[in-house]
Amino acid sequence: MNLKRLFLPICLVGVTLFASAQETMKPEDTEVWQPVPVVIDASVGRAPSDALILFDGKNLDQWESLKRPGEKADWPVHDGVFTVNKAAGDIRTRQEFTDYQLHLEYRIPTDIEGEGQARGNSGIYLAATPSGQGYEIQILDSYQNKTYSNGQVGAIYKQIIPLANPARKPGEWQVYDIVWKAPRFNADGSLKEAARVTAFLNGVLLHHDVKLSGETLYIGKPAYHAHGPLPIKLQAHGDKSKPISFRNIWVRPLIANL
Ligand code: MG
Repeated sequence: MNLKRLFLPICLVGVTLFASAQETMKPEDTEVWQPVPVVIDASVGRAPSDALILFDGKNLDQWESLKRPGEKADWPVHDGVFTVNKAAGDIRTRQEFTDYQLHLEYRIPTDIEGEGQARGNSGIYLAATPSGQGYEIQILDSYQNKTYSNGQVGAIYKQIIPLANPARKPGEWQVYDIVWKAPRFNADGSLKEAARVTAFLNGVLLHHDVKLSGETLYIGKPAYHAHGPLPIKLQAHGDKSKPISFRNIWVRPLIANL
């Protein structure tokens, strides 16, 4: 049998069958109506209606001192923002979270001084572990301020270099939007699934679903230690530069599987 002579007719039959299947389908055959996405009021200038407001310009009721758990976060609130109190130390949310979407705005003081890591250093611990560590995404004045790439603003500190440096000038508000997928652990405490992060700074993608190697360490290699839901922590860094400010912080715990 001459297969070459059969090839064209077989192709024509295939194309004809495909075309006729397309013709017999209706537009509604590929419409999916369930589940219906939850309706969110996302009006301009407001947090999404299902978000937990962590700071709305009035008070730090959602936060507590890390040094004195249960006690009020002693960072000053003024003019709708709050500012790091380095002497009081880190603060953390009263609530614990697993997976979430976080929105946060920060401002480096206009008259910031210092260089490298000692210039507007703070940070968001996406989950603050009982050891006092956690998983830090860096806040730093990285506008014309050189430091190691995995320590500049947007870095998963000492682990993952951000894809870009969209830092604005000191004095301007800057906007973080982060998706955190917490790590999962087996019953014996071993790691089942690494933590993952997607993050934008000032609307620019920094990380797309990157996998973390473990908790942030200043010295040494990151490692995981089993944990469950944890608070979010803001860092009072010990450098001598002027403290930074925050405003407009909200979180949406995510229940759907990411
Ligand atoms: Mg830091």
